[in-house]
Amino acid sequence: MYEDFASTLAATMWSDLDETPNRDGPTAEITDIETLVIDGNFPWTIVLLKTDEGVTGIGEAYPSPGVHEIITDYLRPVLVGENPLDVERLYHLMRESLSGRGSQWGVGTIAISGVELALWDAAGKLLDQPVYQLLGGKLREEVRVYADCHAGEAMVASAEEGQEEATYEPEAYAQAARMAVDDGFDIVKFDLDVPSGREIDTLSRHFDPPEVEHKRRIVEEVTEEIGHDAEVAVDLHWNFSPSTARRLCRAIEPYDLAWVEDPLPPENTDAMRELKRCTDAALLTGENRYGRHGFRDLIEEQAVDFLAPDVPKTGGIAETKKIADMAEGYYQALIPHNIGSPVATVATAHVGATVPNFVALEYHAREVPWWDDLVAQDEPLIQNGRLAVPDSPGLGIELDWDVVEEHRKHADR
Ligand SMILES: [Mg+2]
Repeated sequence: MYEDFASTLAATMWSDLDETPNRDGPTAEITDIETLVIDGNFPWTIVLLKTDEGVTGIGEAYPSPGVHEIITDYLRPVLVGENPLDVERLYHLMRESLSGRGSQWGVGTIAISGVELALWDAAGKLLDQPVYQLLGGKLREEVRVYADCHAGEAMVASAEEGQEEATYEPEAYAQAARMAVDDGFDIVKFDLDVPSGREIDTLSRHFDPPEVEHKRRIVEEVTEEIGHDAEVAVDLHWNFSPSTARRLCRAIEPYDLAWVEDPLPPENTDAMRELKRCTDAALLTGENRYGRHGFRDLIEEQAVDFLAPDVPKTGGIAETKKIADMAEGYYQALIPHNIGSPVATVATAHVGATVPNFVALEYHAREVPWWDDLVAQDEPLIQNGRLAVPDSPGLGIELDWDVVEEHRKHADR
């Protein structure tokens, strides 16, 4: 029923988007689109876009309920039979086909993003070119990757061994920071919206000086431990009120952090802009924003220093590049959010390689020992806090299907 609805809708849209341009260039045809889920530290949702040339484009959508249904029931009927080389046209065709059901933000945009990544991978493979080349060529051979060290239980897990117990004490953070730096990372990030051990009401997002002091001590301990070996960032996950965020930023300004992430709830750009005006701390936000329109006010109002679009969520590879291009005019830089598998990570690296205003991308899976095994190559993707942008066609990696199968999440499990 859904397929009928989607096909009918696509057929009746008043648009030229469903007209394949006339040309003599290379063509192929999309024959099917499927999804599968890898049971990582998030349910990594892989998109497989098959073509009549025997090439399969691999993409990844941000983990979200409903992605599989939207891709298979709505987007597949619209895209089967289309030429996967028409990435830009098909992106707009997908947006138009979901225009009343979330193609501007939310799970609809996430589904579109996953397919868009697979389209770029297929296009690159069909044209025998890496994605970065199709985007205009790379500005850097490798992209910087930062280690998200989390906090508490996850921080212990990501340290693999040597981290003794889950605790939110500053000494534990310092120990985890040293391990990440010893692994070669030169930016480390920690969660700072964590319990101090006192009984407090967190709903108001208002925190008193002893709470702020607990956070300051964590920052002090970490920065003392690693000195200039690495930059330090902290993530506040939208959990502080403007007055508390001001108080906290003031307290940690002396430690010259790389950035303070999501100090305020995500909806109010005015509040973020006001916070930026009264602190020297560099601010970052954006993992909850969708597309260039979702980032427009953050950019135009210069409400933060750094933007964190999530490539498999915000619209995909080309949309993220467009966000970077908009931001570049305001001297803002990208530090993309990334909680994905190697597919999402490499897709983000291709964007990072092709725009000047890119600092580093997130690596969120240090606690998943088989993350690298998903890629059918011997060398780890990330070495010494850098990811060499693959030169092979498409995204430039192939999955190891035995490892995928081993960790594949089935509906009946
Ligand atoms: Mg974050």
